[in-house]
Amino acid sequence: MRLEGTLLLPSPPEEDPVEAHGLNPWASGARPDAPAVRLVPGSIRIADGRIADVQLHPDAPIGSPLISPGFVDAHLHLPQFDILGAAGLPLLDWLNRVTYPAEMRWADPTVAERQTQRAVDQLLAHGTTSFAAYATSHHESVRRALQVITHRRLRAVVGQVLMDQQAPAALCVEPDIALRETDNLLHEFGPFTSVTPRFAVCCSEAMLRGAGQLARQHKAMVQTHVSENLAECDQVRRLHGAGYVEVYDRAGLLGPHSVLAHGVHLDKSQQQRLIDTQTVIAHCPTANVFLGSGAMRRFDGRLSLGSDIGAGYERSMVRVARAMIETATHVAGPIPSPAQAWARITAGNADALGMTDVGRIAPGHRADLVMIKPDVPWTTAPDPLGMLLFAWDNRWIARVWLAGEPVV
Ligand SMILES: [Zn+2]
Repeated sequence: MRLEGTLLLPSPPEEDPVEAHGLNPWASGARPDAPAVRLVPGSIRIADGRIADVQLHPDAPIGSPLISPGFVDAHLHLPQFDILGAAGLPLLDWLNRVTYPAEMRWADPTVAERQTQRAVDQLLAHGTTSFAAYATSHHESVRRALQVITHRRLRAVVGQVLMDQQAPAALCVEPDIALRETDNLLHEFGPFTSVTPRFAVCCSEAMLRGAGQLARQHKAMVQTHVSENLAECDQVRRLHGAGYVEVYDRAGLLGPHSVLAHGVHLDKSQQQRLIDTQTVIAHCPTANVFLGSGAMRRFDGRLSLGSDIGAGYERSMVRVARAMIETATHVAGPIPSPAQAWARITAGNADALGMTDVGRIAPGHRADLVMIKPDVPWTTAPDPLGMLLFAWDNRWIARVWLAGEPVV
């Protein structure tokens, strides 16, 4: 199979048209070292589910359709698709009143399986072909969710949530049992699963330390949350007698395979520790607005971008990328350019999650692709990527391929 159109390709930051031509309307300057993308007419040959060959015609004019790598979402919760937009309460109230009741429904593995299927359908319809997700603490239900993911041939990670305190008993599982169950999942599903302590509030010291050990032993990805809301940060200090980052650090949970969602309220030394350990922060701008957690400021370490469904109300990673720019304007930068925002939701997130064969249109990569047919005059706009980002309409998604197979 061969696809022709305008290809969204990674580019060195100096080729970012917005930075090169001074088109950034906010003029506070993006980080010059951040990766960007460029648009180049060309064609892709697909064989055996992978990109076999890429031909470029750099002198031809850009035109529809646009072909992008499938979008990558660095942080979401599968059981929370039915509470999207349900109630914007402060984090701890939102968990108790909205989220935990929704997650309790996953006690039934059939519910988990059906909801995972629906969540995957919704994500694919929005162009998201890879993601890192939390399930719940129900072992059999997490296995069902993972079976759906592998059966549908998604490059995705789904973790069993570890929690043993400060939450309804129906969701808490003793460390010995929960860690053994995660160990089993790591043996059965390998890189498709993660070590997933929910957050320091609802994990005991024993749970956190066990999680750190397990992650080291399997070289597994760690997913957790950090410093989302100020009341939560206070509670972590009360429960664990230390700062949020320090609690994870002493449990051995920081490192290049660790993705910590939010990081809104981090002081300088906490940020530095995350940078030193190459820990990834998953910035979730829509969720931070919805729960009133605060606006994330500059973070100079490894960054990714997440929808945080269902605290985040947007399924579309293009909209989440736009929200990232909006947040940056409110806190006075550094403001990513549209080319950097597109890079973030494709190659940038893939790199942050350690997914080495998605997020790029490049030979050898999986043919996880999105065909986009915009109904705005983007090809003649001064900044085509900016028009596509700000005027984005999900109806432009004409087709989505997973490993070369059309799924939308
Ligand atoms: Zn989350």
